[in-house]
Amino acid sequence: TWVAACGAREVLLAEPRSFCAGVDRAIATVERALERHGPPVYVRRQIVHNGHVVADLERRGAVFVREVDEVPPGSVVVLAAHGVAPAVRAAASARRLAVVDATCPLVAKVHAGVRRQAERDATVFLIGHADHEEVEGTLGEAPERVVVVGSVAEAEAVSAPDPHRVASAVQTTLALDEAESIAAVLRRRFPALVEPRSADICYATTNRQAAVRAVAAEADRLVVVGSPNSSNSVRLVEVAARAGADARRVDHADELDLAWLAGAPRVAVTAGASAPDRLVDGVVDLLRGLGPVTVTPRSATTEDVRFTLPKEVS
Ligand code: SF4
Repeated sequence: TWVAACGAREVLLAEPRSFCAGVDRAIATVERALERHGPPVYVRRQIVHNGHVVADLERRGAVFVREVDEVPPGSVVVLAAHGVAPAVRAAASARRLAVVDATCPLVAKVHAGVRRQAERDATVFLIGHADHEEVEGTLGEAPERVVVVGSVAEAEAVSAPDPHRVASAVQTTLALDEAESIAAVLRRRFPALVEPRSADICYATTNRQAAVRAVAAEADRLVVVGSPNSSNSVRLVEVAARAGADARRVDHADELDLAWLAGAPRVAVTAGASAPDRLVDGVVDLLRGLGPVTVTPRSATTEDVRFTLPKEVS
């Protein structure tokens, strides 16, 4: 029947979702640099891990490069939100680039913790994914002292030259439950383990995961908007699945599988910290095209974190 095919739907909008303070700041930094210096403004790596944000800034005159050696000497280069190894800063200054650092202050905090531990000659177990750009940057603070630990199995296997001098740090965008199981193994194996003074997984990651867990049980389907290289978006799908939801990630509404949505009266929608909220609107609009929709916000908590812009553009 028509009702079965196009029946009324409730859309549960998870809150908080979408941009965090670090992403807002990084995008505003590129916009300000473009205003101040005019195009081209070079940006090392994706300013934030979202293809739509990058394409939009490209249209406005930002030029994205992999490494600073692709930037003409004397130009302005913005360093992305997920942070860089000190070697990248050194390469940029050797090339006489005007560096604008959009590293999120909460990533910079993790770097500072790793430096502090490396200075006391500790081995630092960095809980995170070795292939992620944030981890690449954090590791670069002390490559000879940092060991990336990506799983419970790896935590069971790692060793340190001096097991009495060991510390840990965590990628800011991990799943809290997964990071905690890895930390628990390290704690058991290394009783001298020095852990971060305050949680390395950031407030935005924590809140978005809490919001997903809050709606997971009541949703028939759960849509996470975010790019495939966005760690926190991919983690939201995993957290939702562990909470019992039938969850998928899409970069854009046009990737949604309509067969998967058919006959699902309650669809929860969220977005990773790097995904613009207009893409969530796009998902809701697509659902409206399938039949009547009521939108119900489901708020786990509110956020009021704001960061000031880097001094070079403020
Ligand atoms: Fe900063 Fe967290 Fe946002 Fe990453 S997800 S940019 S650490 S606030």
